[in-house]
Amino acid sequence: MGLQNSKELFKHAIKNNYAIGAFNFVNLETLSAILDAATELNSPVIVQCSTGAIKYAGIEAISAMVKAKAKNLPVILNLDHGKTFEDCKMAIDNGFTNVMIDASSLPFEENINLTKQVVEYAHSKNVTVEAELGVLAGVEDEVSASNDDAKYTNPLQAKEFVERTNVDSLAIAIGTSHGTHKFSGEAKLRFDILSQIEELLPDFPLVLHGASSIPQNMVQLAEQYGAKLKGANGIPENMLNEATTKHNVVKVNVDSDLRIAFTAGVREILTNKPETVDLRDYLKQGKKYVTEVVKNKITNVFASENKA
Ligand SMILES: [Zn+2]
Repeated sequence: MGLQNSKELFKHAIKNNYAIGAFNFVNLETLSAILDAATELNSPVIVQCSTGAIKYAGIEAISAMVKAKAKNLPVILNLDHGKTFEDCKMAIDNGFTNVMIDASSLPFEENINLTKQVVEYAHSKNVTVEAELGVLAGVEDEVSASNDDAKYTNPLQAKEFVERTNVDSLAIAIGTSHGTHKFSGEAKLRFDILSQIEELLPDFPLVLHGASSIPQNMVQLAEQYGAKLKGANGIPENMLNEATTKHNVVKVNVDSDLRIAFTAGVREILTNKPETVDLRDYLKQGKKYVTEVVKNKITNVFASENKA
């Protein structure tokens, strides 16, 4: 119980065919909303911040908030998309229990070297590490691949990468993408590539980024109160459920879904109660919708209910 690294939790998730949601937060409200949902459903949970969120809220405040609130549940505090050794070291030194080093835009050998360096430091502090291999579309696609296949994780490289770095989990590219507009055509995940990776790396914890579903009820609610999210779409929940319950995907990142839900709640109250200047009025409604979205993920997508 309480804050811990990913080792035992991922082992348990693989053995019992579920995944642990990794939810991004930027403030007390989003953190509490996530933890409320996980507590109510007795689910382990990963709370994570990017370096941008750390800049916004301050790493000491973030770490203290999580420590204070994560007592009765297995919780991993993860750094999302650390880009340098220094990013990861800062998180480790401030009590994060897992860090992601994202050197996926670097050449293979450089990705290995940087990941290895982070793994050595992290393991000496009992912190686990996630790395990434393959290029996700969306915010990462400035690194444009010349042909489509080069965007997906190469299974043979994945095996070599894990063996040489001693990393604890690996984010793979099988067709998910960052942001609120994920597909121009039909959503498609490469389950064939996922299966090949699993054959080469049996029982190894895999991670999906860019895996928001963009719940249309929240999009509609936000738009009803003035948001402009035309064409927002995500990964269908049944595909994510298959990846988590029938494969070794044990961590699924969710950020955009929570942003939309929080925005919908805040907009709703500001529109319906224009006289209010009590921040709690509208922040509470944002929190409420974030909790709803997280509960739906835990129950219907990741199957992590009652696994704490
Ligand atoms: Zn990501």
